[in-house]
Amino acid sequence: MKRKTLLFPLVLITAFCWVGTLIAFAPNTADRDREQDGKENAPMITQQRDNRGTLQTKKIETLLMANKTTGQMEKREEQQANNKEIQQTENREAKQLARALRRKGINDARVLTAVEKVPRHLFIDEKLSAYAYDDRPLPIEKGQTISQPFTVAYQTQLLKLQPGEKVLEIGTGSGYQAAILCEMDVEVYSIERYHLLYQTAKETLNKLGYYPNLYHGDGFEGLPEHAPFDKILLTAAPEEVPEKLLQQLKVGGWLVGPLGGRMGQKMTKIERVGEEKFRKTLHGDFIFVPMQEGTEK
Ligand code: SAH
Repeated sequence: MKRKTLLFPLVLITAFCWVGTLIAFAPNTADRDREQDGKENAPMITQQRDNRGTLQTKKIETLLMANKTTGQMEKREEQQANNKEIQQTENREAKQLARALRRKGINDARVLTAVEKVPRHLFIDEKLSAYAYDDRPLPIEKGQTISQPFTVAYQTQLLKLQPGEKVLEIGTGSGYQAAILCEMDVEVYSIERYHLLYQTAKETLNKLGYYPNLYHGDGFEGLPEHAPFDKILLTAAPEEVPEKLLQQLKVGGWLVGPLGGRMGQKMTKIERVGEEKFRKTLHGDFIFVPMQEGTEK
């Protein structure tokens, strides 16, 4: 009897355990239904798997993107810091250049300030940027040159520009001289005979926020439709002063330019003192690229 009373609860417990185990390992109804329906439900499973897969992929992508974005942001920040550093270096170099020009005799403070402000390295080929703030001319496209900074400053100083004056430059070239003129608060007009140079200079100047009136044309003709000008600046050398340009000067205004052949020129200032009266003064020897007639691509 004693054994019977002990066995009964044991059997009962074992039975419960079995039932429990069976319930625990039985597939749930949804799974069972799908298994039963076979083919028809297969896409659902795939779809579910796909969705989950997609979701997971998405999650991974988001994570990757987050990492990428953080990476990009870091890169951008790094680049911005670099740019700032580069800009500061260039500012410093432009200031050094202005100091060098002062030592060489440029004493117009406004001209020196303009030199400090204009980033000359952006007007030349990147490969030459190491020399951008040296006081020397550098080659640009079409066999032309960006004038030596001293020459740019010297000619600008000779112009004695007053704010608001109307100035015509012949030979836009790189656009550097035009930018210096813009910094002098004058109304700038500039003509270039090579279309490529005209186009490149325009892009560079506009990118920097300078908007002079630029023309692709022959500087020998000037701009009669915009004349008269207070000042005219030649940055290419004609053998003799172009008569048409003198006629586009205001009385009381003057032209500054290198006159003479390929072997060298004299920096010349020609002032229009009366309707038909001009006064000429000479200001040293220079070498410029020649002023050539006509236009080219
Ligand atoms: N002021 C320029 C210097 C460029 S060199 C600068 O700061 O970079 C002189 C430029 O005069 C050349 O680009 C050349 O193509 C241009 N030039 C020569 N003859 C010209 C003409 N008849 N009309 C317009 N531009 C001329």
